[in-house]
Amino acid sequence: MTIHQNLIAGEWVGSTGSENVNPSDTNDIVGLYAQATADDVSQAIAAAKAAFPAWSRSGILERHAILKKTADEILARKQELGTLLSREEGKTLPEGIGEVTRAAQIFDFFAGETLRLAGEVLPSARPGIGVEITREPLGVIGIITPWNFPIAIPAWKIAPALCYGNTVVFKPAELVPGCSWAIVDILHRAGLPKGVLNLVMGPGSVVGQTMLDSPDIAGITFTGSTGTGKRVAAASIEHNRKFQLEMGGKNPMIVLDDADLGVAVEAAANSGFFSTGQRCTASSRLIVTEGIHDKFVDALTERMKSIQVGHALRPETHVGPVVDGRQLKQDTDYIEIGVKEGAKLAFGGERLERDTPGFFLQPTLFTEATNQMRISREEIFGPVVSLIRVKDYDEALAMANDTPFGLSAGIATTSLKYATHFKRNSEAGMVMVNLPTAGVDFHVPFGGRKASSFGPREQGKYAAEFFTVVKTAYTQA
Ligand code: ADP
Repeated sequence: MTIHQNLIAGEWVGSTGSENVNPSDTNDIVGLYAQATADDVSQAIAAAKAAFPAWSRSGILERHAILKKTADEILARKQELGTLLSREEGKTLPEGIGEVTRAAQIFDFFAGETLRLAGEVLPSARPGIGVEITREPLGVIGIITPWNFPIAIPAWKIAPALCYGNTVVFKPAELVPGCSWAIVDILHRAGLPKGVLNLVMGPGSVVGQTMLDSPDIAGITFTGSTGTGKRVAAASIEHNRKFQLEMGGKNPMIVLDDADLGVAVEAAANSGFFSTGQRCTASSRLIVTEGIHDKFVDALTERMKSIQVGHALRPETHVGPVVDGRQLKQDTDYIEIGVKEGAKLAFGGERLERDTPGFFLQPTLFTEATNQMRISREEIFGPVVSLIRVKDYDEALAMANDTPFGLSAGIATTSLKYATHFKRNSEAGMVMVNLPTAGVDFHVPFGGRKASSFGPREQGKYAAEFFTVVKTAYTQA
């Protein structure tokens, strides 16, 4: 098997590879991927630093052309890359192709943004003096990504970093290096100068930590667990560096008595269980008012019975496997915790056997849960949902906000009054009305509050806030 190498200073390097294993079938090895050493990472950072002066002054047409070409190639190869994504991460093929399409849209969006870079010109408070406000690139950006969106998250960090004139050292998650390698290969062939984008694959403890400890990285954008996010924050403060964190969620979805039952069930099933519940925007807390509670539980458990769990590439599959054995253990441990805490296991909870060795788990619903149980407070990151019964909207709103997290929140209602009130009073960064809490657009801001996020929003034109630094220049003519 050929080794997919790291890209450092424009050269593919690395001779030993680690196996990328398919979670739908652990006998299927997706490929071998090089593991960077601490020394490789230092070389990548030095290369990115050396490439920065020229790239930061490169013409907007050059940047536009490279990003556009990348978008076009990703889109043209969506079937192949979607298959790779589903093989390495375990999302179903339609989900994999959808995510690849989104990555292409993100590169296309930021190709366009290169042509829209703008500043402001203002009169000074002092007559005869002009003030110009411009945005400049930060320098070397460290990008650290998780395994649950193997192509979309790398795309939404790499595309704006390059668009605004930064150079990059990129470390993908160990479990899913395949899509990351593919987009770096595409960008490299699209004509990026040497050292502008460096790929360093390997474990967080070596590759990620070396990035955190480097004084030459001007900004780190991170998506992953709260624990690692805190390390990124502490190291970044130490080095006086800008940082942006996207971490966990425990996203609520409220279902009110007046909800359209079909809409509410579909939104809950989609955001609780699709993509195996492995989305930071998944709704893992359903908060349901008394009048609709029993009807909703019956309809949701009926819907859950129809969800086919299986090999991600099979056409009949609705939900693929859990990403690996470690995550599966975390999910099943939480299922045991839920039972011990006294929640009622209304559906699922069992590991499933299929004709390939993989990490298959039934979608799982706990009813009669409380908001104080660990299954309702801690992020499980699997297809496991707690359902909590409440008296009315006021109690539902208070409970939705009673969480350490604040990424996404939803409400199912036909009442304009409650929908409007919830949009204004939810303490989440993203609010959904009659929609799943997961599933967001590529051209508008993404991010949360409280323990979910830190720093400026990602995506859309709001991405400029993190990837640039503002300069105010005064001129007396
Ligand atoms: P998860 O539990 O979802 O894998 P992590 O926060 O461990 O979440 O991983 C997210 C990303 O952070 C991965 O790319 C991982 O390799 C990286 N990472 C893990 N530990 C460190 C660390 N000490 N320093 C920097 N990056 C790390």
